[in-house]
Amino acid sequence: MLPEASSLWLLQLLRDTQLAQFYRPILEELNVTRPEHFDFVRPEDLDGIGMGRPAQRRLAESLKRYRSGIKPKNWVYKILGGFAPEQRKTTTPTESLPVLPEPDGGLKCLIPEGAVCRGKLLGSGCFGVVHQGLWTLPNGQTIPVAVKSLRVGPEGPVGTELGDFLREVSIMMNLEHPHVLQLHGLVLGQPLQMVMELAPLGSLHARLTAPAPTPPLPVVLLCLFLRQLAGAMAYLGARGLVHRDLATRNLLLASPQTIKVADFGLVRPLGGAHGRYVMGGPRPIPYAWCAPESLHQGAFSSASDVWMFGVTLWEMFSGGEEPWAGVPPYLILHRLEKERARLPRPPLCSRALYSIALRCWAPHPADRPSFANLEGLLQEAWPCEGRCVRDVTESGALRMESGDPITIIEGSSSSYSPDSTTWKGQNGRTFKMGNFPASAVTLVDLGGPLATRPVHRGSPLRGERHQGSTDRDREKANLRNLPAARGQRRNVPLQKMKGISKSLESVLSLGPRPTGGGSSPPELRHARAVPRGPTDLPPRPTFASSSSQPSQPPRARPPLPKRELPHSQCPGAPGANKATSPSGSPLPDLEWQRKIIEVELSVHGVTHQECQVALRASGGDVVTAIRNLKVDHLFHLSSRSRADCRRILEHYQWDLSAASRYVLARS
Ligand code: ATP
Repeated sequence: MLPEASSLWLLQLLRDTQLAQFYRPILEELNVTRPEHFDFVRPEDLDGIGMGRPAQRRLAESLKRYRSGIKPKNWVYKILGGFAPEQRKTTTPTESLPVLPEPDGGLKCLIPEGAVCRGKLLGSGCFGVVHQGLWTLPNGQTIPVAVKSLRVGPEGPVGTELGDFLREVSIMMNLEHPHVLQLHGLVLGQPLQMVMELAPLGSLHARLTAPAPTPPLPVVLLCLFLRQLAGAMAYLGARGLVHRDLATRNLLLASPQTIKVADFGLVRPLGGAHGRYVMGGPRPIPYAWCAPESLHQGAFSSASDVWMFGVTLWEMFSGGEEPWAGVPPYLILHRLEKERARLPRPPLCSRALYSIALRCWAPHPADRPSFANLEGLLQEAWPCEGRCVRDVTESGALRMESGDPITIIEGSSSSYSPDSTTWKGQNGRTFKMGNFPASAVTLVDLGGPLATRPVHRGSPLRGERHQGSTDRDREKANLRNLPAARGQRRNVPLQKMKGISKSLESVLSLGPRPTGGGSSPPELRHARAVPRGPTDLPPRPTFASSSSQPSQPPRARPPLPKRELPHSQCPGAPGANKATSPSGSPLPDLEWQRKIIEVELSVHGVTHQECQVALRASGGDVVTAIRNLKVDHLFHLSSRSRADCRRILEHYQWDLSAASRYVLARS
């Protein structure tokens, strides 16, 4: 691995004269690290590394030009050397976070051609092909990687493609975040190759659309992905970058529970007074994912990325459906603006999550939440977890067995049967979704730091647009009645939950709300490729969500769910061994698994494995594990010592977002 800063000049010089293949021999065998070292290099030395005399003459001329101060305006200089400073000059903050200074331009790591061997083909994109590969480090260790090779025509790489490829490199080399795909380095060979972290499970879109028998992804996992995505995007925004191609096809699965934002081909620095990037000319953009201002004026910003986040959320809950499928591109803008149409709520998506998407699709960029806000909003919309307390075999109801873990998507009354209340949820064992009698499920009180997740309200969120101010005020008033989020779920007596439930019901009974589906094309109103509720059930409760729909009549509050015994008290409960983790793997030890999930949900961006390690290190103490992981997180985000990070976190009462903002603002 070679840090580039000290030797980029040599690389530029050699590329200028098409002698890049001598970069390593000159550096390593002749020990040339500065231009004046060439004074001591004799022709025989160059002969010795296999450089012919004509090549030596070219090198001498190039060296002369270099020394006389004429900057070689070759592609490496222009793209890798020239990009970062320009970005520094024009970038302005777009969210509350300041823009971080870019490290000195230069490659993160140059990798010798022979150190990477390519294996099976993973796919191909605009610039070239992506292979799985193995990178052998100088110490002999090998690591699996993905290798993106620039497609080269008979005349060499095409100008724009080369520029875009190198732009992608130059952007990625400055990024480091647990949910951003990591660039390891560049191979200056023929063809040029980008060596990246391998996401062995491929793209999220491929996973979402995988045919049976692959089960659909659990709703909780989708929520976790959304939170990871919001964190990664907040990070990019803080660095003054706009992604412009956010979609499930560009989210890669590094593990069953970890996504990474990838494909930085369209990423641009945000510039100008408004923190926007405006396209200079016609280039392909992902139309159906774009915000109106991007379609109109080619304007991109963090707010347009937020719009795309909403579309990505929709994709996730639609089983990877194509947004606005069947609608010609020229009509999409018309639908969005003139008809105020929005993609409809997918059956798997709760109203709370859908209202987040609607907020992302606010017509005015300034009205959309920031990514930092989204992290909090997602936390609030987190679905409740429950456990089945009896076998459900009623016709039309979601099949479940006692002990099955159930994710509650909507909890509300309906006309399922005259004397019972129906909830909608997903069975964590079968991954099927449907309605079921609420009495069959008891809420799981996870306690501890999970308490930062309020009980799922299943209601539109604060500040949701399209409502009259009176409604908004009433909603706010109702929300004020909610107990503080922190600590809310630990030992909450059911009577308190009853209070919450009541105010939620009042919120639900408020006036008209947007569906976004009302004026969407008929084809979009149909079910997506996600499991639907049982067909012989009466119509699912139609939750108010449309600006064009009349308000729903007030509903009777559902009976309060029974409180479940802590897992530790019922290890032998029937069906307990059928519990599954979000990835579908069996849970060997429910209590341990519960702790892992608790840690995972409390520390943004950590992997399942990291949680396990942290818990083991803390002897199973959840709070210590969470705190240690937060310290780690902050440590990697900044250049501060761990002790400093701990102090900062303590100061911010272990609020990682606040502490991160603090350190980012001062880096
Ligand atoms: P574009 O043309 O905009 O670049 P793309 O995403 O299709 O779009 P690539 O980024 O070149 O093109 O990726 C091609 C394929 O390789 C995609 O299917 C992607 O899922 C896969 N891929 C890319 N990078 C990795 C990686 N690091 N690990 C695993 N698979 C990857």
